[in-house]
Amino acid sequence: MNPSELSEVALEAGLPRFAAGQICSWLYSKRVSTIDAMTNISKSGRETLKSICEVGITPYSEVFVSADGTKKYIFDMDGSAVEAVMIPDGDRATLCVSSQKGCAMGCRFCMTGRGGFHGNLDAAQILSQFFAIDEAPILTNAVFMGMGEPLANYTQVMKVMEVLTSEWGLGWSPKRITLSTIGVIPRLRDYLAQSRCHLAVSLHNPFHDERLSVMPREESWPIAQIVDILRSQDFSGQRRVSFEYTMFAGFNDSKRHADALARLLRGIECRINLIRFHEIPDFPYKCSPAPVMEAFRDRLNAAGITTTIRASRGEDILAACGLLAGKYNNPSENSME
Ligand code: SF4
Repeated sequence: MNPSELSEVALEAGLPRFAAGQICSWLYSKRVSTIDAMTNISKSGRETLKSICEVGITPYSEVFVSADGTKKYIFDMDGSAVEAVMIPDGDRATLCVSSQKGCAMGCRFCMTGRGGFHGNLDAAQILSQFFAIDEAPILTNAVFMGMGEPLANYTQVMKVMEVLTSEWGLGWSPKRITLSTIGVIPRLRDYLAQSRCHLAVSLHNPFHDERLSVMPREESWPIAQIVDILRSQDFSGQRRVSFEYTMFAGFNDSKRHADALARLLRGIECRINLIRFHEIPDFPYKCSPAPVMEAFRDRLNAAGITTTIRASRGEDILAACGLLAGKYNNPSENSME
């Protein structure tokens, strides 16, 4: 909840309005997990609060640790397994957070998409991923790239971003947060207007028919339109836009694709992240070989678009891009339990 919602709760509990500020501080600065711990609120006030609300952090149920230090946390959210991945990198610790139980977008190369959609997470369930993990106090960055399409759960995701970036909340700079989307056009416009956080767009193929063959939502939200919307935005300041491009051998890794990509993105200040594809069952393509990826990267850089090959993290615990399946994978070798 934000301060104005907490004022309503305070009033309902018979507390003075300023108690909302105290509750906010207990929740987001001191990060208590019970109402009893809010000791500057009268005992009777706390009892009333307990009768009408709860702190609402969902603890994780399981954690898997990769050889590279990446950790995959499993949460049981209303009976659905939801995954969040913590990626350490020098003095940074980034949380890859899930916004939905499963996903309705149906991208054919993604295990989350394969599992179907089981509902939205509410703001408390999304925030639990930040508050309940072992690294909660040292998290520095967040990417909304876990399970689900965050723009399809817009209201709750924006509420979480408000908590993360407000002075009364965690006080993070918007520069520490990136939302990743396949390009839900109506909500993309809202996000660009209402948020200052970074944006990553899952592009994967510059050609309509080919993109459509692996991303069914290309039908309603074509990449050409998405890029037109982005071209009208100014990304020369604090906010950045990047494009995610998973490399499939023989599908999207030719010179023709690199050149079309460079043409498509001309005029947008952006970068491209090339992602190694992690094979999944019943999908016809494998990952492009390393030399092909490097040549693709070099061709784009030569065309003036900063392009890097993203290091893949957490593959051994199936925590890497596209592998969050919402079920327990290979727990025996990696579980801490
Ligand atoms: Fe959903 Fe993203 Fe997977 Fe597509 S890639 S199915 S949008 S989670």
